[in-house]
Amino acid sequence: MKKRTKRIIIPILAIILLGYLIPERKAMPCGTTADFNHTSFWHWPWTRGTSGHPHTGVDIFGRVGTPVHSQTGGIVLYAREMKGKAGNSVLILGPKWRIHEYFHLNTIEAKPFTLVMPGEQIATLGKTGNAANTPAHVHYGIVTPIPYVWRLFADEGTCNPPKRFNWMLMFFLDPKDHLIP
Ligand SMILES: [Zn+2]
Repeated sequence: MKKRTKRIIIPILAIILLGYLIPERKAMPCGTTADFNHTSFWHWPWTRGTSGHPHTGVDIFGRVGTPVHSQTGGIVLYAREMKGKAGNSVLILGPKWRIHEYFHLNTIEAKPFTLVMPGEQIATLGKTGNAANTPAHVHYGIVTPIPYVWRLFADEGTCNPPKRFNWMLMFFLDPKDHLIP
C-alpha cells in the first residue's frame, strides 16, 4: 500500500471502529414501556387501507408537549420539518453508525450538527406529518446505513408481512431492543 493511501485509509478505519466502541444503552425517549405496542415494529399493514411497507419503527404514545429525550448520545444530523409523512423530525447519528429517527414532533429543541448526550431533551411529542389524525405519538426508528445483509432472511413481524419488503430489514432495526430497560 502506498504511504499516502495508508495515511487516508487507516484514520478512516479507526473512525469506523471507534463508532462501534461507544456503548449503547436501553432507555425510553419518553413515557414508559406501557406507552407503545411491543409488536408495532414490522407490523403490516400498518395504516388502514394502504398497501405500503410494514411499519419501520415503534410508535410511543403520549400527550402533546411531553418532552422527548435522545435515546442515545450522538450528533444531530437533521432537526426540522420533513415534507410528507414524518412531520417535524430529528435524526441523530449514534453508536455503531446507527441513525435514530424521531418523527411527528411538536417542537424541536435539538440543533443540527451539535452533540447530544444520552437522555438530553431534543423535542416534544406531537401530531405533525401523517400523525395529524392519529393519537399523538413519537415514531421512533433505528436505521443502519451499513446494510445487515443477513436480515434479508429474517423472520420479523407478527402478522406475516410480505417477504418482498425484507430488503428494508437490512436497514431498519427493531427499536424495541433499545427501549426495554
Ligand atoms: Zn410509526
